[in-house]
Amino acid sequence: MSIQEEVNKRKTFAIISHPDAGKTTLTEKLLLYGNLIRSAGTVKGKKSGKYATSDWMEIEKQRGISVTSSVMNFPYKGYQVNILDTPGHEDFSEDTYRTLTAVDSVVMIIDATKGIEAQTLKLFKVCRMRGIPIFTFINKLDREGKEPLELLEEIEEVLDIETYPMNWPVGMGKRFLGIFDRHEKQFVQYNGNEEESYIPYEELKQPDHTELVTQATYEAAEEELTLLDEAGDQFSLDAVLSGKQTPVFFGSALAPFGVETFFNTFISMAPAPTPRKTTGGVIQPGNPDFSGFVFKIQANMNPAHRDRVAFLRVCSGKFERGMSVTLARTNKTIKLAQSQQIVASDRDTVDEAYAGDIIGIYDPNAYQIGDTLIAGKDRYEYDELPQFPPELFKKVAAKNVMKAKQFKKGIDQLVQEGAIQLFRDKRTESYIIGAVGELQYEVFQYRMKNEYNVDVVFETIGERIPRWLKQEQVNESLFDERNMLVRDREGNFLVLFKNEFSLNWFKDKNPNIDLIDLFEIN
Ligand code: GDP
Repeated sequence: MSIQEEVNKRKTFAIISHPDAGKTTLTEKLLLYGNLIRSAGTVKGKKSGKYATSDWMEIEKQRGISVTSSVMNFPYKGYQVNILDTPGHEDFSEDTYRTLTAVDSVVMIIDATKGIEAQTLKLFKVCRMRGIPIFTFINKLDREGKEPLELLEEIEEVLDIETYPMNWPVGMGKRFLGIFDRHEKQFVQYNGNEEESYIPYEELKQPDHTELVTQATYEAAEEELTLLDEAGDQFSLDAVLSGKQTPVFFGSALAPFGVETFFNTFISMAPAPTPRKTTGGVIQPGNPDFSGFVFKIQANMNPAHRDRVAFLRVCSGKFERGMSVTLARTNKTIKLAQSQQIVASDRDTVDEAYAGDIIGIYDPNAYQIGDTLIAGKDRYEYDELPQFPPELFKKVAAKNVMKAKQFKKGIDQLVQEGAIQLFRDKRTESYIIGAVGELQYEVFQYRMKNEYNVDVVFETIGERIPRWLKQEQVNESLFDERNMLVRDREGNFLVLFKNEFSLNWFKDKNPNIDLIDLFEIN
């Protein structure tokens, strides 16, 4: 098979959602279809109780798959499916955002009883800033939830994206009868179990189905469907692929109901790996020379060896174990002898991979996040990974002032590696660490102790809203403890606003000052 044919088979995506929306349940179902696991329940076990904050390996062990950011891959209907896990809960971190730079599409799960929740919104913003196509699965239709039309409206308003319902639910909770499959023009009947029955639209008029079609719930849904057909948005695959429209599916991951149909449609529409920008122009995934970039580095996966694994998204050509590649940043040659693909807690060795695949490679402390690896004669680097706006801030210092040198060294390296973001207070010059999730502080503290032998102490600043300023508009007198003026590692100024209220108040008072939201500019 040619490289291009291999590439065309790849479907690489992540599932984004707020905790408890049903990501694990849905993932399990997909793995079942892919025959990767024999019974649902295998992926579970991540929500085990407490852990000692000092021991980060323990955190990993206990949370298993969710921290080890696994990649699940399996063949399905002629395609090669790669699902990247995006950790939620307390494991939410900048890595979660970065994972989205390595996928070609995203499945967004929304709990029908809750609508759009905080974490979904954050992850959605990253998808939009990257122009990633988004497919929506509205889950838990077997429970009483919000009205379908209300949910669509919420998606359109809060996320500012066009919706196109691929199917339309008839009732919900105890009255849930099934869905109209607008794509296949059939009614899919919910029988309260895994068995789905399919009734083509034209057969619905037959006497066999009188009992179904005369129910008030059915009639109401049919009316809504007619309205959608007449007044709703038209389906456009182009709009979907450019991130302007999201196809919406309704179902239940638990039942499961509507999951297989959803997956089949999703797989047929989701994009295969697309060309990516580099400093040397656009690189096609079918390009014969291997290339890829590091989007995540996992430290200390094996306590005995203290080794690190760099997660690489293959962007072109063919990866072969043992091949030599060039690290573009340093122009050094590295032999990729060890490689692994990680499924749950087992590590399988990968011998070959193509554009779209994700591989874990042994990191002899050589890689940084965003690094490009290439084979062949051409030299180029993939676009830098964006800086994502942190939300949590803490002042940090070495417990023992005598350790200032190691402290500086450790912090510099961890910043370079992308484990944390560092800021300096404009007035006091104190160190401030910005993170997307609490876990990043735990990891930072653990690694400072274990790798640099420095105990660190934190002073909480709390949640803040960061907005970058234009250099020429910086006016120190406008800021104070509430709205702190700080510098990022490149020396750019930003303000950490206390809350939404402070931000709006500031905007009102200073309409001429541009406040830049990183989610909006990338
Ligand atoms: P995650 O945190 O997003 O991975 O969510 P889980 O998959 O662990 O699901 C959270 C809870 O919701 C679990 O108790 C699931 O059994 C339940 N759940 C998931 N999908 C459905 C569904 O379709 N219907 C109902 N009633 N419950 C569901």
